[in-house]
Amino acid sequence: MIDLHSHTNFSDGALTPPQLVQRAASNGVTHLAITDHDCTGGLATALLAPESTQLQIIPGVEISCLWQQREIHIIGLFIDTAEPDLQTLLQEQQLLRMERVQEFADRLQAIGISGLMDYIQTLPCQAVSRNHVAEFLIKEGRAADKQQAFKKFLGNNGRVRTAAHWCSVARAVAGIRAANGIAVLAHADRYRLTRTKLMLLIEEFKDAGGEGIEVSYSNLSHDQLDRMAKLSEEMELWASMGSDFHTPEAGWMDLGRIRQLPQNCRERAIWLHPRWTGSESDPAERQHHS
Ligand code: AMP
Ligand code: MN
Ligand code: MN
Ligand code: MN
Repeated sequence: MIDLHSHTNFSDGALTPPQLVQRAASNGVTHLAITDHDCTGGLATALLAPESTQLQIIPGVEISCLWQQREIHIIGLFIDTAEPDLQTLLQEQQLLRMERVQEFADRLQAIGISGLMDYIQTLPCQAVSRNHVAEFLIKEGRAADKQQAFKKFLGNNGRVRTAAHWCSVARAVAGIRAANGIAVLAHADRYRLTRTKLMLLIEEFKDAGGEGIEVSYSNLSHDQLDRMAKLSEEMELWASMGSDFHTPEAGWMDLGRIRQLPQNCRERAIWLHPRWTGSESDPAERQHHS
């Protein structure tokens, strides 16, 4: 049972890294990628969990990018978390996140809602997100739930919306590759792109060195799953799968509870990638040939 997309409380997940590992192990997950938004700090503590010997923990990250004014998420798997180029990028992104939250704080203050920054200071996270701002709004009684917090305040039409200034897709892929990781395009059907635009995005992603795409994730229907499988085949991308687990609360997919890859893309399942199987002899070679 393989799950290659999950979050801890180092970004906007609810569980600590050891709690995440424990839950994955008890759900029967054999391979777990921890892919926090724009940070990798949770990985070291995940390895301290007693259950970490029962499964393979794959070091990952989910990087927010901007492409044609849209927010695109790129996942890095098997990254070397100590690699300086990637860490420089992630620190820039973390700073952008903090600046964005400060902007939300200013805008909320202007409409009579104060205290966001004080609340943020109490959080254990390394990469702050709108999810945290939504939690603050719920705590303050300004929104009934996350959906409402996004609809009323934080989303594209929300009262205090602010633009994000994430890095480019090419920059994210370059950072992942510098850290010898596999770059995977996350949840491609969520970007509301026309087919033509999606193809253009994928071409650019591949030109930058991107290699994979999430085929099975969250609660895709069978039809959606088949479409994603065909896309991975057509575009010659490795097929990945992950729950995008954030919290044990109802409404989120649980760790490992995702549909298997359809038969027609098993041949390009990401666990056959040389970086995963270990058949890639010299990372420097791969850079050289690409
Ligand atoms: P950010 O990366 O700061 O833009 O925050 C986005 C995060 O907020 C996502 O990763 C989700 O976890 C969460 N999120 C985004 N939109 C919604 C929504 N409509 N309802 C609930 N959570 C959301
Ligand atoms: Mn999230
Ligand atoms: Mn995402
Ligand atoms: Mn995610």
